[in-house]
Amino acid sequence: EALFFNFVKKKDMSNAFFNVPVAQNEPIKPYDPKSNERESLLQTYKSMKNQDPIDIPMYIGGEEVRTATKKPISPPHNHKHIIGHYNVGELEHVELAIHKALSARKKWAQTPWQERAAIFLKAAELLAGPYRDKMNAATMLCQSKNVFQAEIDAACEMIDFFRFNVQYMTKIYKEQPESAPGVWNRLEYRPLEGFVFALTPFNFTSIAANLCAAPAMMGNVIVWKPSQTQVYSAKVIMDLFKEAGLPDGVINMVTVSGRVAGEAIFNHSDFAGLHFTGSTDVFRTLWKDMANNIEKYKSYPRVVGETGGKDFVVAHPSAIPSQVATALSRGSFEFQGQKCSAASRAYVPENIWPEVKKILKEQVGSFKMGSPEDTTNFINAVIDSKSFNNIKEYIDYCKSASDAEIIIGGNCNDEIGYFVEPTVVVTTNPSFKTMVEEIFGPVLTIYVYASTDFEETLDIVDRTSQYALTGSILSQDRYAIQLATQKLENAAGNFYINDKPTGAVVGQQPFGGARGSGTNDKAGAPMNLSRWVSARTIKETFVTPQDYKYPFLG
Ligand code: NAD
Repeated sequence: EALFFNFVKKKDMSNAFFNVPVAQNEPIKPYDPKSNERESLLQTYKSMKNQDPIDIPMYIGGEEVRTATKKPISPPHNHKHIIGHYNVGELEHVELAIHKALSARKKWAQTPWQERAAIFLKAAELLAGPYRDKMNAATMLCQSKNVFQAEIDAACEMIDFFRFNVQYMTKIYKEQPESAPGVWNRLEYRPLEGFVFALTPFNFTSIAANLCAAPAMMGNVIVWKPSQTQVYSAKVIMDLFKEAGLPDGVINMVTVSGRVAGEAIFNHSDFAGLHFTGSTDVFRTLWKDMANNIEKYKSYPRVVGETGGKDFVVAHPSAIPSQVATALSRGSFEFQGQKCSAASRAYVPENIWPEVKKILKEQVGSFKMGSPEDTTNFINAVIDSKSFNNIKEYIDYCKSASDAEIIIGGNCNDEIGYFVEPTVVVTTNPSFKTMVEEIFGPVLTIYVYASTDFEETLDIVDRTSQYALTGSILSQDRYAIQLATQKLENAAGNFYINDKPTGAVVGQQPFGGARGSGTNDKAGAPMNLSRWVSARTIKETFVTPQDYKYPFLG
């Protein structure tokens, strides 16, 4: 009893309304030649590449769990080099992870918000400092990102997610209802009653962390299945959470196949939410699985899914050719076109096409491709053999098509790494296969339209694909910008004017798309965090009536 009293007294000591630090975007380090930061990052990369093979466990309730089934981990740009292994789990491991998460839930859900905030603020500072090189190097090594692509993702965006979400969390908690005289109305933001399943893609280390951290910050417990091609940086994320003080069992990482994870999770009565980023087809399969099991769940699960894209760039006849070419060369090919936001279809008017083509050829022709260890390489490898073969099939299809022509690139070579040349296809058919389908690789298809057909072209852009993630308009004519903004209202969740369609920054351009591209809950924004709480309204009446008769009965 005395112990319990002490605990209550201690909890009651936090009786002020705290403000959290005002979130600021983490500055991007430039990694100039001869800079200390570059030296230090490349050293870390080398030592992670050459160390004894690493054995990455699952993290279940604070235990490191290993199995007899090991799968190798290799750099996509050097797939014969084995960095280490991860342990493949089975159904029982997912079930154990659910059990451990639910066991941790009571204490975590009751932990005051400022304690939860402190853990993620600490994670942000650890990542800005001692973890920066490790997180970036793991992302360069096993996801094949160049220094800059790793820095803006694994360091800056992840730090921004933690800092801004802490601020947004307090914004949500501050939202309170009106109270009429004699009454006090309150809103409480309960974590979901159960556990959240975080299912994450390979392409952004920051997304993997955020899909776990956002619901956890709001008091939820998580079972996380990372992509099998992101496990190395996933391990660094788990180390970071642990060092930041996240209690055991709050986030549990299982490395199992998607099917095995789904089988355990979607059959569990306490499944309360899905936080997914990945492809549209997988999301639709998951949605069907959840729907088929809906009677089993205690609550209707919250479903957040950010999915595929077929992101466009539209140039108006007034656009400046060098700006259009640069929006395409950066927007389509950075990180080998493996960003959900990567420009993969473009609409260029005849009048500027010769100039755009010339500059684009020069720019793409000057790209160097190879390992991220050589920092002069702008392009690295695509993620794995499956992806390589898929992209190659699309390129081969373009080679054999009568209504398309490859004007840049088109070669693939997987002897050492999964290298695909940045490829530009020009088609005379606005509904050509590669204008419509997501390829998720360095392939851009361009449709050249008659300069008088701008408005009709906008209609084509709007109806060509099932996706609506990002898109941009380049124009010097304000009326044309206005027209495109109106006509493409539902064609993109992130719409850019005179810019490339990639590179959204947390706190500045809340990110997400609609139609086939997702539920558009905007990662790194209050909209997303509010999906991970279930509000309880509390009404208290101070002078309680003692007679049923209203005055009108008199
Ligand atoms: P993916 O759909 O192949 O995989 C995502 C996750 O789902 C992985 O962990 C994978 O193992 C798992 N998975 C696959 N099949 C499953 C199944 N049947 N059951 C359960 N889990 C399953 O996606 P990816 O290749 O890792 O990532 C690329 C995709 O993600 C692209 O389509 C891209 O557009 C999309 N993406 C979207 C956004 C966004 O914000 N909209 C951001 C990043 C990536």
